[in-house]
Amino acid sequence: MIKCRGINKWYNKDLHVLKNVDIDIKQGEIVVILGPSGSGKSTFIRTINALEDIQEGEIIVDGIPISNDIKNIERIRMETGMVFQSFNLFPHLSILKNITLSPIWVRKWPKKKAEQIAMELLERVGIPEQADKFPGQLSGGQQQRVAIARALAMQPKIMLFDEPTSALDPEMVKEVLDVMKELCHTGMTMLVVTHEMNFAREVADRIILFDQGEIIEMGTPEQLFDHPKHERTKMFLSKII
Ligand code: ADP
Ligand code: MG
Repeated sequence: MIKCRGINKWYNKDLHVLKNVDIDIKQGEIVVILGPSGSGKSTFIRTINALEDIQEGEIIVDGIPISNDIKNIERIRMETGMVFQSFNLFPHLSILKNITLSPIWVRKWPKKKAEQIAMELLERVGIPEQADKFPGQLSGGQQQRVAIARALAMQPKIMLFDEPTSALDPEMVKEVLDVMKELCHTGMTMLVVTHEMNFAREVADRIILFDQGEIIEMGTPEQLFDHPKHERTKMFLSKII
């Protein structure tokens, strides 16, 4: 589903932020990305839907190469849903409109169909009663569940999550992780940057550890947590667990 070969990226020509990143991700695979702050996790995940460009290497998403061809980038963006730490809902639109906006304008669905699917998704993330409210009236956990529903409304094949629970009060983390866990069981391909180690252990097929722009180690949760091979992995885990 995702093929990354020899990715190198620099910011401002001198900050080498991604170094020879190689990874293949299968359809339906749940990959959790760990690593210290500033190690390039967000940058990496954003290269997959071309929110960040790369200077070297190749990225192919569901058979579509990322290139300067805007058509390809549009197709890849349609296939990838993204959820950010800071929700990024449109504050002046109702919850329902937040979710139906792209399906109506990009997918060209009739309003009725878009609204019906939006309501089904709100049902699925547990907050159908919030449909007519505005983002500012919802808790952080509810807003993040709307953000997930909004991404799913475009029927993506891949979901990218960049620290989706990092901005939440502790009591709201679980409600968002529960929605993500449910999604894991639907066959969705997922890439999740997170510091939630229990979530990683429970759902990840594979964990990747980033440090200073490189993939230091990758493996199953058991391999990585219980038998880490690299000193940098051990050091990272000793600080976080
Ligand atoms: P992480 O998500 O692992 O915390 P990031 O991918 O956000 O790491 O950042 C990796 C490095 O790139 C950091 O040193 C960060 O300061 C730098 N960086 C991130 N975004 C930009 C940008 N738009 N311009 C310049 N440097 C950036
Ligand atoms: Mg980040």
